[in-house]
Amino acid sequence: MSQPSRIAIDGPAASGKSTIGELLAEQLHYVYFDTGVMYRAVTWAALQRGIDLADEKAVTDLAERIHIEVTQPTVADGRQYTVYADGEDITWQIRRPEVDHGVSPVSAYPGVRAALTAQQRRIGQAGRIVMVGRDIGTVVMPDADLKIYLDASVEERARRRYREIRDRGEPADYDHILRDMRRRDRIDSERETAPLRPAKDAVIIDTTAMAVPEVLTEVKRWVHQSDP
Ligand code: C5P
Repeated sequence: MSQPSRIAIDGPAASGKSTIGELLAEQLHYVYFDTGVMYRAVTWAALQRGIDLADEKAVTDLAERIHIEVTQPTVADGRQYTVYADGEDITWQIRRPEVDHGVSPVSAYPGVRAALTAQQRRIGQAGRIVMVGRDIGTVVMPDADLKIYLDASVEERARRRYREIRDRGEPADYDHILRDMRRRDRIDSERETAPLRPAKDAVIIDTTAMAVPEVLTEVKRWVHQSDP
């Protein structure tokens, strides 16, 4: 039985995708790629350039032109990777609340998705990759060798995000985070193009009451069980 080469991990915000994705990739010696970064980079670049996020054409033009690059971390400040947009390091800017707030409407534009999905497919083709997002198992790599869908209650996910922000030393408001997360869940699952939902052949894991090591063990069980 051979190990799955292309692994898709999907799920809503703060369901554990990036933590689990990174640990899994490290242990398997695979590439880890977080596709949310690309939608965030487009959103940040639009805000920087004073583009109205409601202007679908302008945002789509930007998504088609902008050069996004994700590399190994270039600074030891807790980052999982370094993100460049047109050569500028925007790794931390894309985690700002205004990006959290603007990213879901931006990701609902079909033209934005087309531009970014094409790049993600190219990246995925090389194999030996753990790709994380909302539509990896359904749209980006529908033929992935293993598809995992991580879920958790919205309250638990808001708590995780709250702790993450506080741990970075930034101010955080739980109620605000919860409200924003509910709104993002709704936009991500109700949009017409590539809505957030598990692929038919995905393994669904509810992580609400699970600690990270338990989730990782469960995911690895599926890695060793699946036969591409
Ligand atoms: O995973 P993360 O929270 O960084 O993703 C930010 C946003 O990017 C999501 O809320 C979603 O709107 C969008 N996204 C997407 N498809 C992906 C990854 C992220 O629509 N594959």
